[in-house]
Amino acid sequence: MTGRERLMLTAALAGDLVDANHILFDRGIVDGFGHVSARDPDHKDRFWISRNLAPGMVTAEDLMCFDLDGNAVDDDRTSYLERYIHAEIYRARRDVHGVVHNHSPSVIPFTVAKGVSLRPVCHMCGFLRKEAPLFEIRECVGDGSNLLISDSRLGAALAKSLGEEPLVLMRGHGITVAGANVRQAVFRSIYAELNAKIQMQAMALSPDVVYLSQAETDNANATIDSQLDRAWNLWKQQVGAPARPNPQNRSTEIGDRQRVDPAR
Ligand code: MN
Repeated sequence: MTGRERLMLTAALAGDLVDANHILFDRGIVDGFGHVSARDPDHKDRFWISRNLAPGMVTAEDLMCFDLDGNAVDDDRTSYLERYIHAEIYRARRDVHGVVHNHSPSVIPFTVAKGVSLRPVCHMCGFLRKEAPLFEIRECVGDGSNLLISDSRLGAALAKSLGEEPLVLMRGHGITVAGANVRQAVFRSIYAELNAKIQMQAMALSPDVVYLSQAETDNANATIDSQLDRAWNLWKQQVGAPARPNPQNRSTEIGDRQRVDPAR
């Protein structure tokens, strides 16, 4: 940033990011830990995420702007240690505009149980497509790490494991979910947790579980993806926020050019 340029984020996108924090907490996907970010729509090499704060407590004033090296832009407040997850995924994936990192409880078993993969078991989880990729931090830094993605090198390795998939499992740690926008990343985080729970229940009943086929996941995902706002608006109501159009959906962007400075 140079001169007197001010950091700004549309009021609607700041609103979605705050709502995303509260929804993820309300749905049990994050607790005191975990975070969600949005790529800046005008500066594609920047993203917005809360300062170091429990997601359930985040307000628009807590949002900070970062570059893709994980450096805060004109802001000296304390930031999340694992912001490199977001930075490196935005660097690697130009199609991604929302990222959630969390430690949702039903997903963790799939990061540590050998011979088992998180796979789509129901039509709401068609976005999973096939077996979820797994990031093994020991392949980067050997044994003895704290398992956190605490620098750009680890973030890039995680992004490489994610590849072109919607999410990546992190051994003994959690999951990181990518979306075309914040709402989709939140939706996928909530339903990845649900899929994990249902898959474990099915596997407890029988060793022979029928998963969605590739054709079924493609078709189910295309249908469900057009309905995201229905769930989003319900989840928003549960956290006491009014419904709004998706600010990262081009068809609803016009008329939302009022900008705010959330960090001030
Ligand atoms: Mn973490």
